[in-house]
Amino acid sequence: MTRASADFAQWRGLPLDGILKTCRDLFEDPTYPTVREWRKPGGKVLGHFQVYFPEELAHAAGMLPVKLRGGQADGVEVSQHFGSYLCSILKTSLDLALTRNIELDLFVTHPICDGARNLAGVWGRNFPYKSQVLHLPQNANSGGSVPFLAREYRRLARDIEALVGAPIRDDVLNQSIALYNRSRQLMRDLYQIRRATPWKLGADESLALLGMAGFLPREEFNALMEEVLPLIKARPARPQDKMRVVLSGGFCEIPPLDLLQVVTRACYVVDDDLLIGLRWILGDVPVSGDPYTQLADAYFNNSSYSPVQHDNNKENEKLLIDSVRKANAKAVILGSAKMCEPGLDEQVAYSNALDAENIPYFFTEFEENQATFDEISIQMETFLENIMFDCDANGELINKLVA
Ligand code: SF4
Repeated sequence: MTRASADFAQWRGLPLDGILKTCRDLFEDPTYPTVREWRKPGGKVLGHFQVYFPEELAHAAGMLPVKLRGGQADGVEVSQHFGSYLCSILKTSLDLALTRNIELDLFVTHPICDGARNLAGVWGRNFPYKSQVLHLPQNANSGGSVPFLAREYRRLARDIEALVGAPIRDDVLNQSIALYNRSRQLMRDLYQIRRATPWKLGADESLALLGMAGFLPREEFNALMEEVLPLIKARPARPQDKMRVVLSGGFCEIPPLDLLQVVTRACYVVDDDLLIGLRWILGDVPVSGDPYTQLADAYFNNSSYSPVQHDNNKENEKLLIDSVRKANAKAVILGSAKMCEPGLDEQVAYSNALDAENIPYFFTEFEENQATFDEISIQMETFLENIMFDCDANGELINKLVA
């Protein structure tokens, strides 16, 4: 085992606002100071690119799994490796590694799109450690999908074992699954608070908090959530007369916190798909039987949705409508990262389904490095005002309206 002991507890003892600020600072820090701290005594790091990765495999081996989600980078180093026509997250993720802001011992990506699949090859040519593609099956509805994915997980586990120099025992992997089950429950609780009392936590604050799961040791993240959820519930904030909306489109590249802050000022974001990979599995994964098969089964049969998984049993547009209904939202912000082909493609199906259900939506493109928000702010406020003028006295929509 190479589990390192380090003090990640900057948040302990702070009031809620202080904890949220600490989370935001850490979330936006491209130098990943807590990951550096983990590495100091010899801790190993597995970096995985978006969207979903079974972090339990790395955790059970004593590694720190880190979700690579791009970040603030000037892009100079990476410009000789990638063309300008790609989405930002691909470029900044590699840039942060090339500039040694984050250092890894193993890199894993997934064939979620052409750029992400090719990232493994580009990464592998630039670093001495192994770079892997974890093949999440494209055909989710074949009887062979679960066994195939379980084999893929085992194949990856062999690489992890070789790296740490010890086997991953099934009973230890089941303990990791139990820890992550608790973590997923805490994340569901966070979103339940957002749906029930959105005035207690902005979408930007929620993302900063959730983002800690992407690079803190999971035990520390769970302790943080156990502490902070009661504080959020007790937050003395009063409801305002704001439109309830669902934000869709942040499944891979995520908008900057400042943009979410602008959105939060204008409306209540009562649900979203930000960092959905961390919340991909929707219920507890059984901690008995073969853990690889249990994880693979949960990936398909107990999971959320995104434009990069196509499953006949999961109609993405229907699931988006379900989230609108469940959150009692009145409108949807349909976002997409610039140059994201899967995200832009999905907009067609989403907008058709929202039209059919008479749910107004607002379409926007974003970029993780975006620094000005005036245009989106004006567009969104105009959209929200138009909806309000189109509602009856009970707030029910009279005519559909699309921005
Ligand atoms: S943002 Fe879109 S195009 Fe870019 S890596 Fe993610 S899925 Fe691929």
